Amino acid sequence: MSLFYNSTRDNSVKVTASQAILKGLASDGGLFVPEKLPKFDKTMADFSKMSYREVAYEVMKLLLDDFTEEELKNCINRAYDEKFDTDEFTPLVKADGAYYLELFHGSTIAFKDMALSILPHLLTTSAKKNQVKNDIVILTATSGDTGKAALAGFADVEGTKIIVFYPKHGVSPIQEKQMVTQKGKNTYVVGIEGNFDDAQTGVKKMFNDAELASELDAKGFQFSSANSINIGRLVPQIVYYVYAYSRLLANGEISDGEEINCVVPTGNFGNILAAFYAKNMGLPVKKLICASNDNKVLFDFFTTGTYDRNRDFMLTSSPSMDILISSNLERLIYRIAGNDSAANASLMQSLRENGKYEITAQMKEALADFYGNYATEAEDAAQIKKIYEDTGYVIDTHTAVASKVYDKYVEETGDKTKSVIASTASPFKFTRSVMNAIDPKYDSKSDFELVDELSKIANVDVPQAIEDIRSAAVLHDRVCEVNEMPAVVKDILNI
Ligand SMILES: *Cc1c(COP(=O)(O)O)cnc(C)c1O
Repeated sequence: MSLFYNSTRDNSVKVTASQAILKGLASDGGLFVPEKLPKFDKTMADFSKMSYREVAYEVMKLLLDDFTEEELKNCINRAYDEKFDTDEFTPLVKADGAYYLELFHGSTIAFKDMALSILPHLLTTSAKKNQVKNDIVILTATSGDTGKAALAGFADVEGTKIIVFYPKHGVSPIQEKQMVTQKGKNTYVVGIEGNFDDAQTGVKKMFNDAELASELDAKGFQFSSANSINIGRLVPQIVYYVYAYSRLLANGEISDGEEINCVVPTGNFGNILAAFYAKNMGLPVKKLICASNDNKVLFDFFTTGTYDRNRDFMLTSSPSMDILISSNLERLIYRIAGNDSAANASLMQSLRENGKYEITAQMKEALADFYGNYATEAEDAAQIKKIYEDTGYVIDTHTAVASKVYDKYVEETGDKTKSVIASTASPFKFTRSVMNAIDPKYDSKSDFELVDELSKIANVDVPQAIEDIRSAAVLHDRVCEVNEMPAVVKDILNI
């Protein structure tokens, strides 16, 4: 074992991969980052002959190097199985001159399944390795997608319980139904009378409550987080970029060593950071194309070098990208500052106190791998319609942001490098926005009528995740006020 993790705010912090997974966030508020990014010890030609699981092992073993081969393979085999509706796990679909990497074939039909189906196993393995005797209680606040993916991932995983708080009046009907019908004797779903920020703040308070922690400990419990800042979520996301490259190579679409571009619809900066890590580990990637919706704080950052969250929060039809503080960007800032934790910590302090920070000219130069742009609501809808009319392929509202930004990039640069677009959600998850984009006549229909229409026009079966909720019984109906959240947690845990 040789790879340790530092905190982005303190290089003297040094933990193993399994300790970083258990802790989630460093005590100083920083994110865990590998001391160095290891290089792949297999060639692209080797990868092109491997299955998804084999690629997953070869990639993850380098970053989670305190896991034994048996432990890691066990986690991989339990995560990537029949929960996915295709043996390919992440199929590539060629449409309109680009390759769409479909990351939505898991149980909740959004890309968060790629990491949240393995995180519970990484976490329970980490607990065992570090002699943690307590049961792990996952506390999550969600604006819709993460909650369901975390519930599905942790359901009936021994040694864990999961409690999800969501804004009772702030998620889509399909998202709510997906959560409140969740099975599993260790799953708890609670609506709160407040918005997502209230839920998030309530959860953070409980994480920082030392008295609550010791009450929990006395009863054999401890909290952990399934949030996207956990490296247990980041590392599994590197895999599918390598796998995508390996399929392009295996299918003769590219030659060995040929560079590709990666286009990623971005919110918290986790998915695109995984692509950046893949590039730095040896994947032949030319540009990392960062696509934003109307909340274009990242576009402004890449063009000006100033990150400024002081602006109105826009509600869009790609809600999983409606974010003004992209938490995982901190890992990139740390790196372009030359792994200087003090420099990063002072920028993050400025973000906390003034809502903004500016990077140096030298740091800005290190961003040359990235291209940022954004798509407006109108451009997003027009792109869904265009791709459908040109090719018959239907993409969701998040993927359409990436698709539009890719078109802008090609127009601006003339770059013809083959490009992989991360397709982060099934169109069936955002059926109303997708169908309205194709034709406003659909607006009068009910949600489930639209599902059937979409299946017809796209010539794609309705995903099991949607079939499941059509008739599923509601199993969770707990609702509470924001200030009652700790009492609800204690009640659930019987303490
Ligand atoms: C979470 C999410 C995103 C944003 O991914 P980040 O890793 O937060 O940048 C994009 N699309 C969908 C559908 C998502 O659920």
